[in-house]
Amino acid sequence: MNILVINAGSSSLKYQLYDMDDESVLASGRVERIGMDSSILTHEVEGRPEVREVSEILEHTTAVRKVLDMLTHRKFGVLKAIDEIQAVGHRIVHGGESFHESVLIDENVKLEIKRLFDLAPLHNPAHMMGILAVEANLPDVPQAVVFDTAFHQTMPKSSYLYAIPMVLYKKHKIRRYGFHGTSHDYVSKKAAQFLNKPLSELKIVSCHIGNGASCTAILGGKSFDTSMGMTPLEGLMMGTRSGDLDPAIVPYTINKEDLTLNEVNSMLNKHSGLMAISGISSDMREIVQAMEEGNESAALAFDMYTYRIRKYIGAYAAAMNGIDAILFTAGVGENSAPLRKRVCEGLTFLGVELDDERNAVRSGETRLITKDGSMVDVLVVPTNEELLIARDTFRLIQEPAQ
Ligand code: ADP
Repeated sequence: MNILVINAGSSSLKYQLYDMDDESVLASGRVERIGMDSSILTHEVEGRPEVREVSEILEHTTAVRKVLDMLTHRKFGVLKAIDEIQAVGHRIVHGGESFHESVLIDENVKLEIKRLFDLAPLHNPAHMMGILAVEANLPDVPQAVVFDTAFHQTMPKSSYLYAIPMVLYKKHKIRRYGFHGTSHDYVSKKAAQFLNKPLSELKIVSCHIGNGASCTAILGGKSFDTSMGMTPLEGLMMGTRSGDLDPAIVPYTINKEDLTLNEVNSMLNKHSGLMAISGISSDMREIVQAMEEGNESAALAFDMYTYRIRKYIGAYAAAMNGIDAILFTAGVGENSAPLRKRVCEGLTFLGVELDDERNAVRSGETRLITKDGSMVDVLVVPTNEELLIARDTFRLIQEPAQ
């Protein structure tokens, strides 16, 4: 059973083809610069050299056709024929309040995703283009959608409402939704398995720290609170996003700098965070290196970034009246031992005792990085959002037959 996982952006499309018999990745790749005359398709199969093809790809339907051509290519492909793909799973950023779990796509689901365009104008329309492009190329293949927000639909009102007039929630659904749900869900389940404890009895803070970053309080396996908000801008400081700030800064900056609302929005999303404070990079590897070479702005960016993570962990410890485990995942969380060390250094009051040797180990496996006997377990858990999308899709296409 082969399942194709698609993550469609406005000018890019990433794909991964899974063989669900052993959950192995048969091929993966991406199409970049869709809409331009020199679009690039990069295709990877383990053990073979990467293939790059430059051509004109003006829209997503052509992008999907090119991907399918590559997957069945005589020399570079991994399938004999296109009908060896039994289902397609899509990542969808925003499911609003409509979707509490992954679903198979039908006309109603498409309509509902369209209704949510307003809440995620940069993401959902692009995902829809991906869905329609697959439909055009593979009309008889079932498709499923997996939402970044769905896991957080268990949050109580006290976590998800903003203290603004209720009419804004009632009329426009302005509330906290949270993101990276697929990842927080996956790593919390993995951690419970690893610790050999029932997830229903654990209080976990999961820190997904990549280009985008969010912390989630997971109480008994359910999202109780999360740092991202109505959009992925709120919460932690990120590579180029500001995270939390006083909303009064927006009108004040517009006045003082004679900026438009769009320009401030772009500043907060694309020109803030690590990039703005360090002045050199949004990439944590470069920040740590510059800091070690004595760059004071990089050191300040690192201090602010790690301080915010620690503050959220502390806040969520209070929210859940305790913590059993802290999880680090995604690009920075999995790979940056200095970041984990700095965050945990200030958590000794909770009973966190980091083990420096364990923290320094590099591995793609789930691992414990605290000392035996630490009151709180800290784990590094590699995330795998694509695999979760493939698994959900696989489960959903089996269900109707049961
Ligand atoms: P996203 O999915 O949000 O785009 P990822 O989870 O792939 O992001 O994380 C990407 C980030 O991970 C990069 O910007 C980089 O800063 C960081 N990263 C990758 N490897 C390392 C490393 N060895 N040390 C520190 N940071 C790293």
